[in-house]
Amino acid sequence: MPTPILQPGEIEAGAPPAPWLKLPEGSAFADRAARLESLAAGHALADYLRFVAALSRAQHEAYTRMPALTLPRADLLAQRRAHAMPPLDATAQARGTAWRVALQQIVAAVNDAAPPPAQAAIARLQSADDGALEALAATLLRQDCDDFDRAAAPFVAAALQVQARRLASQLGAHQVGRLETASLCPVCGSPPVASTVHVGGEYGLRYLSCALCGSEWNEVRIKCSSCASTKGIAYYGIASGAPAVKAETCDACHSYLKILYLEKDPAADPVADDLASLALDLLLDEQGYQRSGLNYFLIPGPT
Ligand SMILES: [Zn+2]
Ligand SMILES: [Zn+2]
Repeated sequence: MPTPILQPGEIEAGAPPAPWLKLPEGSAFADRAARLESLAAGHALADYLRFVAALSRAQHEAYTRMPALTLPRADLLAQRRAHAMPPLDATAQARGTAWRVALQQIVAAVNDAAPPPAQAAIARLQSADDGALEALAATLLRQDCDDFDRAAAPFVAAALQVQARRLASQLGAHQVGRLETASLCPVCGSPPVASTVHVGGEYGLRYLSCALCGSEWNEVRIKCSSCASTKGIAYYGIASGAPAVKAETCDACHSYLKILYLEKDPAADPVADDLASLALDLLLDEQGYQRSGLNYFLIPGPT
């Protein structure tokens, strides 16, 4: 067989460039549930990890039952992109009603597996009117958690994640532009839960994972995702902990974000592995670093 002759430009064009943005595709909740189950084995927080696994399975069911949602109008999306604003505004008042349907499905599914304080919160959510539920969502998304029904937080967050993921999955990459700051999700404006160093076609590239909609956006490595400093960055892990999970600390702003290396464990999941590495958070707290990642299931609640 003759060797094909490359035309000028073909060598450079060989591999498609890695995307700067990875919109969510389908439900990742079932994989997360499986990851949490496997991390729970022999873990000091096994009961809680299994409870969040049950919550993730309920999210998967709610996601698959959720119909296609209505996106903002195309001209509004174009306008938001032109002004470097995310196409979906997580904190907008008019967030739609699908999340409330998902919420009732989720709490019904996990009620039997929930510990008593969480069952009391579930009962409150089942009897709350729409206005009260919207107020809970608004408070949670503003991260105004001093004044919040903490036991209800994981359920409200779980339902909001399902709706946000569904909406984000319906967007096209051309409808999303880069924000001025890499510290917030370019799709919905929420903070990241953690970052992940990918394998395969994105080998070695680091992506931040949105705590709410599950989108991932590229950010260079050895750079603070919170203040953008490239100096004073260090990595901490725990000798007895998972080798795929480290914390990237910044001495400029004294914050840290977990970083997951898929090369060391391809099943690592930002939400699940963040929860299972709480010992690392305790270590960094002792060292004077503040968490910049947002994990809705870390808000004290059902345990
Ligand atoms: Zn997002
Ligand atoms: Zn920093």
